[in-house]
Amino acid sequence: MISVDEARAVVRAHARPLGGVERVRLAEALGRGLAGPLRADRDDPPFDRSMMDGFAVRAADATPGRALEVVGRIAAGQAELPRVGPGEAAWINTGAPLPPGADAVVPVEQTRGEVEIVEGVAAGDNVLPRGALARKGDAVAPPGPLTAERIAVCAAVGADPVDVVPRPRVAVLATGGELTEDPGAHEIRNSNGPMLRSLLEGCDVADLGTAPDDPAALGEALAEGLRHDVLVTTGGVSKGELDLVRPALEKLGVEVAFHGVALQPGKPVLFGTHAGGAAFGLPGNPVSALVCARLLVLPYVHALQGGGFDDVLRPVKGRLASAVRASAKRQRVFPCRFRDGAVEPLPWRSSADLYTAARADAWLVIGIGKDLAAGEEVTCLVPRPR
Ligand code: AMP
Ligand code: MG
Repeated sequence: MISVDEARAVVRAHARPLGGVERVRLAEALGRGLAGPLRADRDDPPFDRSMMDGFAVRAADATPGRALEVVGRIAAGQAELPRVGPGEAAWINTGAPLPPGADAVVPVEQTRGEVEIVEGVAAGDNVLPRGALARKGDAVAPPGPLTAERIAVCAAVGADPVDVVPRPRVAVLATGGELTEDPGAHEIRNSNGPMLRSLLEGCDVADLGTAPDDPAALGEALAEGLRHDVLVTTGGVSKGELDLVRPALEKLGVEVAFHGVALQPGKPVLFGTHAGGAAFGLPGNPVSALVCARLLVLPYVHALQGGGFDDVLRPVKGRLASAVRASAKRQRVFPCRFRDGAVEPLPWRSSADLYTAARADAWLVIGIGKDLAAGEEVTCLVPRPR
């Protein structure tokens, strides 16, 4: 059985950005992988910008008690600007260009009437100089999936439409004869499929539904899944005699890179490759599937979209609120809540406990054999929003 780090290294080694470029409207670009670095089309701000409502002045003139003559008014978006000479000032709005002659803005709160200076300023005060945020040609967003913030950057530099890489084509298949939409007393609903589909926002997801633990039907569904860049299955990868996913994948030409990772939950996870892409066989228990998806599948997909393999989970340090036992053989990944630097482990009722997972906002990493005491400094992994 390999370690989590080794498994991640194997997956990372197979993750190469998808080629090709598509041009999409910014309104449809959330979660899409930016194709290449985005560059500023001009200086930002494009002019020396007032950061306050007040008076544009020559700082040397704006001394406490001094009265200045107001020679004009400047609104944001105004093109014609008055010249500010010695002893003069111009009314100015936040966001308006600093007029010629002026070198600072006195906030209105530091003045009286029109206009006496109450509190002075130094040259440059309350002015954001041209190009202070970005210079024309600067790279302003790295490649990788577009977040709301990066969408704002695209809008600011006029990148609408924007060039993105094609969506990774990902097939999701839940396996298990017990899965059905209308369960009898002996059956359950498929919660993994909708979870994975949601985690894969920004991808072109084909939800293949469920397949029974039957070689023929399973083989057919897997064959369909392998026609995508990535196939993600859940269930059927453990040691039971109906755990048929591995042999069925191998029969279809998948070369298994690893099967079994020293991870709890998630030990049976499988990763393989074939000419057309990659296949992840996640365990069926919902929390196992979730942990394996976060540690292995999402980093892989992020890298296909031009992002960093490590960028989907942010390690944060905090103090442990209560003791947690390690496993002697496997690295544990434990659901917890992270508040003001305090890491509160949530009650663990098995890897089937998706209800606890749904309350977690961070995952505590517990090294093999390393019991953790209350008050210890620990590392959590916090998923980044997509
Ligand atoms: P398996 O990995 O096939 O041995 O399944 C492990 C456990 O996860 C069993 O209790 C399954 O019933 C359950 N399980 C498998 N697939 C799903 C699924 N798609 N949604 C919810 N639970 C599942
Ligand atoms: Mg099963």
